[in-house]
This record gives sequence, C-alpha cells and structure tokens, in this order.
Amino acid sequence: MDFKTLYNFMLKLTSAFENSKCRKDFACGLESAFSKILSVEKIKIYILDEFSFILKDFEKPWENLSEDESMQIQKVLNSFVGSKESARLSDNIIYMPILEETKILGALKIIPDGSIDLQNDFFQIAPLVQKQISYAILNFKSREKMQLNTKFYQTIRNIAKIIETQYELSYILPVLGEMIDGFIHEHLIYIFIKNKNKKDFKLVWPANIKDVKIYGYLEQLTSKSGIILEREGKVGIFPLLNEQKLLGAIVACNPFDKLNENEINYLDEISKQASITIERASEYMKILKDATLDALTGLNNRHQFALRLREETAFAKRQNKPLCCIMTDIDFFKKVNDTYGHAVGDCVLKNVARTIKKELRENDIPSRYGGEEFAILLPYTTLEEASLVAQRLRAAIEKKKINIEEYNIDGVKQLSVTISVGVSIYDKSMKEPDMLYQNADKALYEAKEGGRNRVVVYKP
Ligand code: GH3
Ligand code: MG
Ligand code: MG
Repeated sequence: MDFKTLYNFMLKLTSAFENSKCRKDFACGLESAFSKILSVEKIKIYILDEFSFILKDFEKPWENLSEDESMQIQKVLNSFVGSKESARLSDNIIYMPILEETKILGALKIIPDGSIDLQNDFFQIAPLVQKQISYAILNFKSREKMQLNTKFYQTIRNIAKIIETQYELSYILPVLGEMIDGFIHEHLIYIFIKNKNKKDFKLVWPANIKDVKIYGYLEQLTSKSGIILEREGKVGIFPLLNEQKLLGAIVACNPFDKLNENEINYLDEISKQASITIERASEYMKILKDATLDALTGLNNRHQFALRLREETAFAKRQNKPLCCIMTDIDFFKKVNDTYGHAVGDCVLKNVARTIKKELRENDIPSRYGGEEFAILLPYTTLEEASLVAQRLRAAIEKKKINIEEYNIDGVKQLSVTISVGVSIYDKSMKEPDMLYQNADKALYEAKEGGRNRVVVYKP
C-alpha cells in the first residue's frame, strides 16, 4: 500500500471519529474511510452492552440481534480471546476485535465487495487500524455518556424550573412526560397520579396505554415503596413520593431489555424531582384558591374571571348597558414550546398579556382564562367598538417583537406570534352569564378554522 493511500485512509478515519454526532454517523464515516483501501459492501459494528453484557448492533443498541447472528458473533469473540490477532478472514468476511486494553468489547464485521485474500494490503495495516478503531469507539462511548449526563441535568433543572411559574397539574404533567420521554427515548414512559383517598391510579401521560397489566403492578405501591422492577427488570416503577405520601408513579418499560443501572439511577433522580414539583404545585393550588391574579401574567385568573363575569353581566342587565367579551388564543403556541422550550413559551405568554393590557382601557377586564387563552370583558362597549378593540389587539400582537435573547437559543434574538380572536355581546335574554364567553369562544373557534390570525364576531 502506498503512503498516500494510507495517509488518506487515516485522515478520513480520524475525521469520521471526530465529527460523528451519532452512532450512525460514526458507522458511515468508518465505511467511507474503508472505501479508500478496500472495496467494502457493508461494515457492521458489534458491541457488548456494558451493563447487560448482551451483544448489540452498535447502530441500533435498542434492538436485539437475531439468535443466529448473536451466536455467530459471540463465537467469533470467544475465538479472539487470548489470540492477539488484529483481524481474521473467514468465509470471505473480515472480523476485527474491538479491545479495551486486553478486554474484548466487540467486533467489526467487514463484508468485502468481491473476494479477498490474506495477501491484501489491508492485513498489513490491520494492527494499526484495529487500535485506532478501538480507541475511537471507546472515546465515542464516553462522549455519549457525558452528553447523556448533561442532558440529564438539563432535564432535572427544567423540571425544577417549571414550578417557578406553573401550578396547574394538567399543564405540568404532560410537560414532565415529554421531558422524561425526550431524555429516555428508547423506553415507553407513563405517568400515573393516585386518585385522592382511593387506591387506584389515573394515567395522566400519555393519553392512553396499551399495556394494561401495568395497572396491576401499581397496586403493590405504598407510601413506603422504593423502586419496583417487573418482567425481569424490563419494567421499572418509580413511585412519586413526598413526605411519606404516595402521589403517583412514573413507569418506564423497555420492550426488549432490562433497564440498566444508569437508567434506573436517572429515573430515580427524576422521580424525586418530579415528586417535589407535583407536591409544590398542589400546595400552590391551595394557596391560589384565594388569589385573584394569575402568577405568570399578573392578569386576573380564571376564578376571578368567573366572578367578574357574574358581576358585570348582572350590572349590564340592571343598567341596560352594553357588555362585550373577547376571547383570544395564541396560534400554534405548542410549536413555540416545542421549538424553543417552555421557558420561552412562558416569556411569550407574559409578553402577550402585557400587550393586551396596554391596548385596553382602564375599565376593561383582562384575564388569563387558561394556558394560552385570554378572556376580556368590556363593560359599556358596543359590539362595533369591541370588534375594533379586537382588531387592534390582533394587530398589536402580530407586530410585537418578543425579545428572547436571554434564553441563548442559537442566535434567535426575537420572535413573534399571532392570535385568533372571537367577540360576542351580552344579551339580557341569556339564561346564564357563561353564554357570553361561550359565544365568544365559538367565534374564536371559527377564527381558527378560517385560518387563524383573525377576528370573528359572533352572530347568533
Ligand atoms: P392553535 O393555533 O390551534 O391554538 O394551536 P396551539 O398549538 O396553540 O394549540 P394547543 O391548544 O394544542 O396548544 C396549546 C399549548 O399551550 C399546549 C401547552 O403545552 C401550552 N401551554 C399551556 N399553558 C402553558 C404555560 O403556562 N406555559 C407554556 N410555556 N405553555 C403552555
Ligand atoms: Mg388553546
Ligand atoms: Mg393556541
């Protein structure tokens, strides 16, 4: 082999190892480097899982190998023990052991494109190649571990952070579910909350469960439970506990393998953090029962909205004055959360609330109705006036540039959102005050259907 070919091969190998972001990248890089010295049809990397000692396909560690393939490679690995060989040719396939010092961690299976013999140049440089690849795989795995750790601490921090501004469990729990799911992605994750004063559990994330046997496992949980493993360790039940109270459970299922020690430790830590978050949210809810303002936006909360709705409709009826209602909902808000994270989502909510407040008159009553929905009562206001206000709000939000520099998101400094708006007017003949906002909500729905970022006035 001439120097230039060898040089090109080594260069390509090094850059593949340095630049690969995922295991698939790594394997592709390896294949393209090998194509400089050998005509290769396919390269496969097999690696022993460090916890279960099961042989895995490096590119798809979450899948199990077929029994035949696993046996065949295991046999190859066994034959390398104590042999000092760097590569072996067998049935026109090259096998190369992957080593950590003298420990065999796995093997490379190189299927050449065409027939090959031991005189091939490749076998001359095999000892060098084998060392490089072994180092690179070890290095890659420790890099992966570090990234996982960083991601883990980010998840923990994010879970802890939710409680600063959020208190509705119906919002917190799906976010928790998504975070855990994003972190432990090869598993099915479920979150259950214990029904108060009863023994049974309610699934709160995701929307449904296929594996109903899990409910059976949950029955054994008590306020003194630790982690419970079922199905030979493939299912882990992590109780959500707070000060000796059983709040619920996070369940992780791996369809193929035992949960490994790392995963169990991570999930244990996450459940502890989640328990604190859930407990604080319910404490917060109790305090907020008497509060009138929404903690995130400073607008009236939903409870206060209901009270004001009663007062204002009664007043409008008595005094025979017009009263209108505007309902707004941010368009595609889920996408903001999904793209930039929930902290940015919260920042957008605050900004939208501030803009709404700025555009209104002293007498108008803005409230945060729920998640990303705002309701506004407009006393002494005709339907024409209210629809002008609604138009003004819509335009102001569309124009507003929300600064998100402080969140350090890949050079994104600002973003904008739009809202859809529904408007309605109170009618003395309404049986229930609620009909006022329900009509606005119907108009809002039409605004969404009609393409969003628009105002629709309710017509009876
Ligand atoms: P549409 O245009 O149809 O309204 O789309 P959308 O994505 O806004 O609708 P959807 O109702 O599916 O999504 C609302 C999202 O708002 C989902 C929820 O996670 C998010 N959300 C609700 N409350 C809060 C909150 O307090 N903070 C943050 N960051 N997100 C919230
Ligand atoms: Mg909504
Ligand atoms: Mg929305």
